[in-house]
Amino acid sequence: MELAKNRGYVITKIFREVASGETLAARPQMQQLLAEVENGLWEGVLVMEVERLARGNSIDQGIVSQTFRLSDTLIITPAKIYNPSNDYDEEYFEFGLFMSRREYKTINRRLSAGRLASCKEGKYVGALAPYGYKKEKIEKQKGWVLVPDEKEAEIVKQIYSLYLSDEEKTGFQGIANRLKDSHVYTRKGNPWTAAQIKYILTNDVYIGKIHWQKMPEKKKPKNGQIVKMRYRSKDYPVFDGLHEAIIDADTFNKVKAIIDGRIKSPNNTMRSLQNPFAGILVCSVCGRPMKRRSADKRRPGHSASFDCITRNCPTVGSPVDVVEAKVISGIKQWYESYNLQNRGAEKPAPVYNDNEIKNCKSKLTILKNQLNTTFSLLEQGLYDKDTFIERRSFLKSEINSVQAVIAKLEKEDSLKRSQENYNKLLIPELENLLRIYDNLPNAKSKNDLIKKIFYQIRYTKTTKGNRWRPDKVDDFELEFISRLPLQ
Ligand SMILES: [Zn+2]
Repeated sequence: MELAKNRGYVITKIFREVASGETLAARPQMQQLLAEVENGLWEGVLVMEVERLARGNSIDQGIVSQTFRLSDTLIITPAKIYNPSNDYDEEYFEFGLFMSRREYKTINRRLSAGRLASCKEGKYVGALAPYGYKKEKIEKQKGWVLVPDEKEAEIVKQIYSLYLSDEEKTGFQGIANRLKDSHVYTRKGNPWTAAQIKYILTNDVYIGKIHWQKMPEKKKPKNGQIVKMRYRSKDYPVFDGLHEAIIDADTFNKVKAIIDGRIKSPNNTMRSLQNPFAGILVCSVCGRPMKRRSADKRRPGHSASFDCITRNCPTVGSPVDVVEAKVISGIKQWYESYNLQNRGAEKPAPVYNDNEIKNCKSKLTILKNQLNTTFSLLEQGLYDKDTFIERRSFLKSEINSVQAVIAKLEKEDSLKRSQENYNKLLIPELENLLRIYDNLPNAKSKNDLIKKIFYQIRYTKTTKGNRWRPDKVDDFELEFISRLPLQ
């Protein structure tokens, strides 16, 4: 505020981040600020240090610096005014962000190093003691140690002995159920889950071990945001803890052997794809994929079917062979009408906008240079403040309209190009599909081919048809959504 007062800036809005998040995703105020900067709402943004604008990873920093650059927004600190569209300032700015990221990492690393040292000494560094233990401060020393919690430790022992007593019948869920029956709940007062039981049975904290980052936090992009997730990592350092074991090593290893054997044996993730329309055939009412259900062998006359499994969706399913036949004949029809429209007559080769785009781009370069020189003209006194502002807003609107023209021309070209590709590559592929479909070895190869050409096939059927109403069995409609971009 002092800076603004001294230099005569008008402060219109203040953004205040309550939590100091590491990533942009965790900084809602910063996101708001960026959105407004992007829309050119502000001439400049005041911060104490540029480092305040971006921590996180280099992608976040790229977003920040690009947003300021593209919108020609100044970053004003007490020490310096950065103009991100000036190359030199931009370098300087990005360097500042880079340094702040390193600093953040160093702090984190230092913290981690301290925690690792504690682990090596057998101390407990986690926030919450594992079930069965309490955390106690070590006397006259830094750090915490685990101490068995009498009541909880008893439950842990019970879980291990239940698992070993009749492990054939008592799985993780079975143990959870038994605990519930005897009114034993988790620390939060909830019924135990199978996953929690498994975690207890596989956690070697109970034989006196301490782990360094047993489940390290990993950052993963999800829906465009970075979320933190915990994965069970396989090779984490293990140390001997200062704490007392609750379970003896022999019992623990017996349990481990059973669990390892049980988990490794049946591998059902390798089941092959059964549905040639997986991910393509969707219900037209609710938009969800149609599920392929296998035939029920116990019911004579029952056949595999495609059904919408959304609750209360009015869509009626159909037998797999009927749908498959109709999809193929539908693709044939689609292909014939496409051919008639687009390939029947010899079409002239498409003309691209390359030259016009080139002209626009050189125009854009000139305008951007002019925009950059407005600052020096102002500094040299050749422009007064009003001329400066007027000139800049004129140039900016020119730049915007040239950019819009370029975008339009490029879009036209990309449409022509994809249409050409479609004719050149996908149509022969489609012809191929129709020829060999019946001989394809499995559902997956069918699926791969159909996916290349169609984005979706929408299924509509709301009339019931079955063995008693055979005329209604194939009374359904299919709509083919091709990958060809719409004009
Ligand atoms: Zn549905």
